[in-house]
Amino acid sequence: MIMTKSYDIVVVGGGPGGYVAALHAAELGKKTALIEADFLGGTCLNRGCIPSKTYLKHSEIIEQIEKAKDWGIETGSLTLSFSKMKKRKDDVIQRLRGGIGFLLKQGKIDVYNGYGSVLPGGVVKVKTADGDETVKAAKVIVATGSTPAVPPIAGLDSVQFDTSDTIFDIPDIPKSVVIIGGGVIGVEFATIFASLKAQVTVVEAADRIIPTEDAEASKFLTKMLKKKGIKIHTGAKVQKVQETDGVKTVVCVDAKGKELSLEADTLLVSTGRRPNLSAVAELNLEQNGPFIKVNEKMETSLPNVYAVGDVIGGWQLAHAASAEGVVAANNAAGETDQIDYKVMPRCIYTLPEIASVGLSEDEAKKQGIEVRVEKFDFAGSGKALSAGEPEGFTKIIYEAKYGEIIGVVMAGSHVTEMISEASAFMYLEGTVEEAAKMIHPHPTISETFFEAAVNAVNKMREGSKKNSLVG
Ligand SMILES: Cc1cc2nc3c(=O)[nH]c(=O)nc-3n(C[C@H](O)[C@H](O)[C@H](O)COP(=O)(O)OP(=O)(O)OC[C@H]3O[C@@H](n4cnc5c(N)ncnc54)[C@H](O)[C@@H]3O)c2cc1C
Repeated sequence: MIMTKSYDIVVVGGGPGGYVAALHAAELGKKTALIEADFLGGTCLNRGCIPSKTYLKHSEIIEQIEKAKDWGIETGSLTLSFSKMKKRKDDVIQRLRGGIGFLLKQGKIDVYNGYGSVLPGGVVKVKTADGDETVKAAKVIVATGSTPAVPPIAGLDSVQFDTSDTIFDIPDIPKSVVIIGGGVIGVEFATIFASLKAQVTVVEAADRIIPTEDAEASKFLTKMLKKKGIKIHTGAKVQKVQETDGVKTVVCVDAKGKELSLEADTLLVSTGRRPNLSAVAELNLEQNGPFIKVNEKMETSLPNVYAVGDVIGGWQLAHAASAEGVVAANNAAGETDQIDYKVMPRCIYTLPEIASVGLSEDEAKKQGIEVRVEKFDFAGSGKALSAGEPEGFTKIIYEAKYGEIIGVVMAGSHVTEMISEASAFMYLEGTVEEAAKMIHPHPTISETFFEAAVNAVNKMREGSKKNSLVG
């Protein structure tokens, strides 16, 4: 008779939500199992964050080589080997996958390679290549992530199209790409393919690309992407798609009501993601829209069942999933923990990049906070100019009375690396005065944060002088 194995905590899904939860549970001394149907690392490592950043590094180098010509650094003519680029992408993924496997082994976590279904009463069925297995779980953490959501566009059924799940492994560099969706993922792919010399067109239904981000950052990115030759249609509603002899045609109506017919050899649909819920189909969990509903302890509506990451909606970012995974593991292990979303850095990996944290000016005003905004342009940064990257800005949104920093938006090169300083200030409830006092290394682009803070402090001083004169 096969003995059913019992665990303190069983995690379903091995992405950044699930594997971080499993590692943390094991660190807390809990007997832990992780069930993953596909590859360790989830969407982020295999079909998301990491392959896209690997390709974007190629894009950055191509742009640098081209820019260098004007600086007197000449190379021969540029040739691109997509197969080598893909191999490098695969090598990076393999290496990181191996790293996660090693950590799980070190944590003595049992990894089941199979499809998990959570049944009532703490039973998890695992469908593996060698047959079905059943494990018992005192607590379950659901971290099954999400899948590209494909909208019901007329004609799409009879057209060969890609999503972010398939686009990384297309055989050749496309000559032309139409991307439906100008959100965070769509603009990343637009950047990648434009640098590979494909003609890129982005179709976005909202009135601007990256509609969830700061309006000024969106305007900046639109300008920068157009400079690369990317065509952007906003306020454009897709009517239908069709394919003839490998040529895909996207018919849409633009903001002015004009019908557009956009042709390309590659069609990428990048219109959001839907949660993977089949693992919990038998549980009847309460939902928050299409997602699993959780409280701040990551508890679902069913005792002993937690959920984290893309499957609960919200931020749908890898670092959010991991933070939620730690909270779920703490609570499942008998400690008390709550998620704190106050400081959630958001990065858009285009060339140049966008990064932000905290509240926008509009959001702060809606919450009744009296705010001021201070912006410093990269054109005033010695490092940005010497690097030939003078486009961009750092914007600090701060509370008017005490100067507490409540939001930061950065646009320009390397800002995804720089947003953590702003995040740290916000985490520690720092003020513009403190940021203006902290010595920053020179020359660095991070000085733009310091300069914006100095200007903010000067304005606060002028304001209080004027007020005291009035008084
Ligand atoms: C192109 C792209 C680029 C991205 N770039 C970034 C970025 O730069 N930064 C960032 O923060 N985020 C990025 N994201 C988002 C990020 O990938 C996700 O937010 C993150 O992966 C969510 O983690 P997760 O653990 O919740 O789910 P996932 O990473 O989706 O992992 C879930 C795992 O569960 C497994 N699974 C599902 N059902 C079952 C089951 N029943 N049994 C067993 N296993 C199951 C799946 O196979 C998968 O491996 C990007 C996404 C895409 C698509």
